[in-house]
Amino acid sequence: MLIKKDYEFDRSHIWHPYTSMKKPLQCYQVVSAKGCRLKLDNGKYLIDGMSSWLSVIHGYNHPRLNCAIKTQIKKMSHVMFGGITHPSAITLCRKLIDIMPSSLECIFLSDSGSVSIEVAMKMALQYWLGNNQNRQKFLALQHSYHGDTFAAISVCDPNNSMHHLWKGYVNKNYFASVPICNFSDDWDIKYFDHFAFLIKKHHKNLAAVIIEPILQGAGGMRIYHYKYLQLVRKYCDIYGVLLIADEIATGFGRTGKLFACEHANIEPDILCIGKALTGGTTTLAATITTRKIANKISNSQANCFMHGPTFMGNPIACAVAAENISMLQNNDWINQVDNIEKQLRKNLLPLKLLHQVSDVRILGAIGIVETYKLINIITIQKFFVEQGVWIRPFGRLIYITPAYTIKQEELEKLTKSIKLAIENPLNFL
Ligand SMILES: *Cc1c(COP(=O)(O)O)cnc(C)c1O
Repeated sequence: MLIKKDYEFDRSHIWHPYTSMKKPLQCYQVVSAKGCRLKLDNGKYLIDGMSSWLSVIHGYNHPRLNCAIKTQIKKMSHVMFGGITHPSAITLCRKLIDIMPSSLECIFLSDSGSVSIEVAMKMALQYWLGNNQNRQKFLALQHSYHGDTFAAISVCDPNNSMHHLWKGYVNKNYFASVPICNFSDDWDIKYFDHFAFLIKKHHKNLAAVIIEPILQGAGGMRIYHYKYLQLVRKYCDIYGVLLIADEIATGFGRTGKLFACEHANIEPDILCIGKALTGGTTTLAATITTRKIANKISNSQANCFMHGPTFMGNPIACAVAAENISMLQNNDWINQVDNIEKQLRKNLLPLKLLHQVSDVRILGAIGIVETYKLINIITIQKFFVEQGVWIRPFGRLIYITPAYTIKQEELEKLTKSIKLAIENPLNFL
């Protein structure tokens, strides 16, 4: 009885991501989680294929991350960052600089991925003000996703983020087309024509180009060729436009490189990280830039960078993020991600032969199956839970981004469930 009451309360009072209060989708109550397993209130376990939106890379309830949090709590949970610094922030930022491309050395800590994008865009705008230029436009990619706050929305694909809904609030920016072009596919320079055209035409008003390197996430789970990314860097240099890389989804090993920019061997001028930064334990994001840009920002009329969230540099978040990076520095993730990629290739690529499937894309610890028909999210979610797995598709996409620590048999169960789900016509609209 009590359980039912909780669900009713949830349905009538609590918003969930991208849902209606009037007609909410069903929710499942998770009471605890460990490794790659979620425990439901009915005692059932689900194998988790999502790592909570690419964040829980070492699995849930990891003793080392837990220990970092507990140790920090005993000292202090929070202290303001204005006029005060603390060991956890310093340790974390030293580690970040260790693992970043060498040109990136000035770090702004913030609360969430979307905020780190706002910060990056402000940095670009203020950089140009410091150069006595008023450049206010951004060039992004079609199918991009950079977050849900207003500046971030303005660089999201206009169709996905429904720019028409926010007309008047959201600035108009430019959007270049990107190929779906897997690593094994042949590169063709014509894929870059639209981007080249736009940057050539508008560069005098462009503060920055903003992109998700190699993998476009929530805007369509698309993978594009590293040569496109190399050309983006080259054209930004030719036309004197800053490059912002949004590595919020791709950072920390997900694509098989520590940062996806490494696939193209390029360095951005401003880099955003979030999601896996704390190993999926607490919210934290960061925007990192070069000394040159930081100095120009301080030349702007404001004399400083105009941002400062209340929970900036939260000590618990910094402590656990530093521990997460220490764990990554053991380099176990390289083999783990490589093994996941191999297993995904073996078990998901054959699904291309199914008549329901239009494409299968794999990169690092990411497996994506695209279907011709729209997925019925209500029935497929139930189906997956009955199978004992947690996979949350959207649109025409069934994808998994498991923790790097997932066991071979757990991953096998996920890919088998995907095949079964696709073969069941009830799971499509
Ligand atoms: C998730 C995500 C964001 C937004 O991060 P939040 O923490 O949800 O605000 C921005 N960009 C990319 C590429 C993301 O995957």
